[in-house]
Amino acid sequence: MRPDVDFYEVLGVDRNASQQEIRKAYRRLARKYHPDVNPGDKAAEQKYKEISQAYEVLSNPEKRKQYDRFGRQWQQAQAAGQPGAQDFRTFVYQYGGPGTFADIFGDIFGDIGFDIGRRRSRQAQRQPQRGQDIYHQIPVTFAEAMRGANKTLTLTIADRCPECDGLGGKAETCPTCGGSGVSQQGGGIFGFASACPQCQGSGEVITETCPRCRGGGEITRTRNISVKIPPGVKSGHKLRLAGEGGRGFRGGPNGDLILEVEVQKHDFFQRDGDDITIEVPITFIEAVQGATVTVPTVNGKVELKIPPGTKSGQKFRLRGQGAPKLGSNDRGDQYVIVSISVPKRLTRKQRQLIEELAETWQENPRANLPQGL
Ligand SMILES: [Zn+2]
Ligand SMILES: [Zn+2]
Repeated sequence: MRPDVDFYEVLGVDRNASQQEIRKAYRRLARKYHPDVNPGDKAAEQKYKEISQAYEVLSNPEKRKQYDRFGRQWQQAQAAGQPGAQDFRTFVYQYGGPGTFADIFGDIFGDIGFDIGRRRSRQAQRQPQRGQDIYHQIPVTFAEAMRGANKTLTLTIADRCPECDGLGGKAETCPTCGGSGVSQQGGGIFGFASACPQCQGSGEVITETCPRCRGGGEITRTRNISVKIPPGVKSGHKLRLAGEGGRGFRGGPNGDLILEVEVQKHDFFQRDGDDITIEVPITFIEAVQGATVTVPTVNGKVELKIPPGTKSGQKFRLRGQGAPKLGSNDRGDQYVIVSISVPKRLTRKQRQLIEELAETWQENPRANLPQGL
């Protein structure tokens, strides 16, 4: 029993919850943690005791008033006739004792619905739990991101030890408290008690260090994972492989393996969302005369018509020749930025022709520039 836990918290209700709300919360929790529904589950039994104890007090307007005033010491305060007695103890509700909540048991089993506890309190650790989601980065080449791929990855994953279920040893019923989690003094339905000092209230102790994980509760596994990369994936995109993550605890389902895609850069194709940009050099003759040039795209070769008088840095759009759009048959666009290549070496004849050309040249391209500041 955890002496520090608030009764309102135990039932998950507000401090000014109505009697009806308290009753409703109790029924819902009692259905979930009732020992008959969780046979042999010490944690559920423990939880059930807490719930019942909280309900016993909060459902009784007189006791609730006392509890609101003095907290968990309300009984001592009442007994001693002095408010706020300091000795921190709590009373125990004994499951199956006389005069328990027979009126409620009637409909407790009406609709039994399990939901796997995900809370990580000491108590919850003893119940079935879904395994952890495991995150991993997955490098994808630019080509794989464009075309899609089936990849096999070898991952080394730290996971819950299957031998001891992550406990680090053998869990046995605590010999001090016999599994109740309470160290009890006095008898009757409401004897005084505190959390068992040996198991800190969990009702279980770990004996015999697990030989497989040496008590750490974790082992590393190396696994081969096959994964389908859809065409059009981007960096940061997450691929979820259901059930391939961390092992579930005590029969709980496995977690998922979540692979975060990291698309590598390409030397020539630059990607911006679904659009691709590539720089394509043309000769200054092609720029002057115009030409039809062959341009690479992620989708294959495409002919691009360059008009006469094309400037360096001019941008052309090839509609629908970009990256595939994830989950559809559409594609983005490809932009071609031309750069004019200037020859470093000329033949004697070429130099002669250029010289002749230069003599005819009247243009001053810097005519509109200012003289300076
Ligand atoms: Zn182990
Ligand atoms: Zn114990």
